[in-house]
Amino acid sequence: MDHFLYRDGILHAEDVSLTDIAAQVGTPFYVYSTATLERHFGLFTEALSGMEHLVCFAVKSNSNLAVLKLLGEMGAGMDVVSGGEYRRAIAAGVPGDRIVFSGVGKTREEMRLVLSQGIRQFNLESEPEMRALSEVATEMGVTAPVTVRVNPDVDARTHAKIATGKSENKFGIPISRAREVYAEIAALPGLDAVGIDVHIGSQLTDLEPFRQAYTKVAELTRELRADGHDIRRLDLGGGLGIPYERSNDAPPLPIEYGQVIRETVGDLGCEIEIEPGRLISGNAGIMVTGVIYVKEGEGRDFLIVDSAMNDLVRPAMYEAHHDIVPVVEPEPGVDQARYDIVGPICETGDTFAKARDMAPLKAGDLVAFRSAGAYGAVMASEYNSRPLIPEVLVMGDQFAVIRERPTYEEMLERDTIPAWL
Ligand SMILES: *Cc1c(COP(=O)(O)O)cnc(C)c1O
Repeated sequence: MDHFLYRDGILHAEDVSLTDIAAQVGTPFYVYSTATLERHFGLFTEALSGMEHLVCFAVKSNSNLAVLKLLGEMGAGMDVVSGGEYRRAIAAGVPGDRIVFSGVGKTREEMRLVLSQGIRQFNLESEPEMRALSEVATEMGVTAPVTVRVNPDVDARTHAKIATGKSENKFGIPISRAREVYAEIAALPGLDAVGIDVHIGSQLTDLEPFRQAYTKVAELTRELRADGHDIRRLDLGGGLGIPYERSNDAPPLPIEYGQVIRETVGDLGCEIEIEPGRLISGNAGIMVTGVIYVKEGEGRDFLIVDSAMNDLVRPAMYEAHHDIVPVVEPEPGVDQARYDIVGPICETGDTFAKARDMAPLKAGDLVAFRSAGAYGAVMASEYNSRPLIPEVLVMGDQFAVIRERPTYEEMLERDTIPAWL
């Protein structure tokens, strides 16, 4: 069920017309659908029903406080990868005991912050980090609950930049060394090994790599228990992919993913944690942009839009595809034009799509990039001194700006000219 549909010839977000939002906030902007966020979170709760579990939303996919509050109120935990994300989760009202802390380079300062305000567990990624946490926790007189992120050496069959579970990747500890590491944790003060963590990559469109990884985690659970460790929690990471191209085969459903979890680790009596990001927020958001010019080129026309790679970097960074649709529904059967859709930034990489067939568009028209709710606004920058674009949340027939577009004054004020100039 999609909550971005045409009604009376205009693309809507739930019951709100995108032309109304554009008239009020200006283009470009991101817009998220409450109903879609709720539905996607619900799919995971349903997929894990009957097993003790916590669905921890991967904050890095969309960290807007309103989105976090919405999910937190539904009972979601949060998976954070920095002190900043932790502060966001806390500010959104999520209690520390529902927050897991992932990431390869946690600093001592971040460890202190999180230990003083409450944390469900640290997902440790290296031995130096394990020793640092032991020292920090001991100094503070507390015990830090930890898991070790194991690297199962499986091929996630996804884009190289978002594959994390092969031995050559920087993530986790090789699963073959896990027993030694857990033995050291047991010997160190200030640490309590509560479980095992694994995350093999993002935008996986096949369940087989999950099955392989989780099977290895199940074996390791048995071995560690035999070694005397009380493994009671398994964090199975995120990574389930979404359909970016409607014309392609649909990736597996959360319910099928839940079945893999049941089959591989369901009999261990562990509490299950998962960390989905993209599947919850990706198709819950779109980016709306205006056409500045239609430029005729040789063999192709260019649609020059008012958003750019700094606003949505996925096409430039991962060769990612986004379906792009006009906000005003084209007449049926209209002749298609072929466009390269580009932003105004002075880099050839600032190309969103090549040779897209669409109903003809003209300057001033609006188009929407679908599936832009994850790794969109969070990865935006002010490159070319372009202000970060606003984010809007829709619920039914209401909408609210949940992040304002900064003014140019606010952007310039952040710089300081030294006294000697
Ligand atoms: C990125 C990441 C996730 C979320 O991945 P999605 O593909 O958005 O589901 C979960 N856990 C960890 C450790 C991550 O790095």
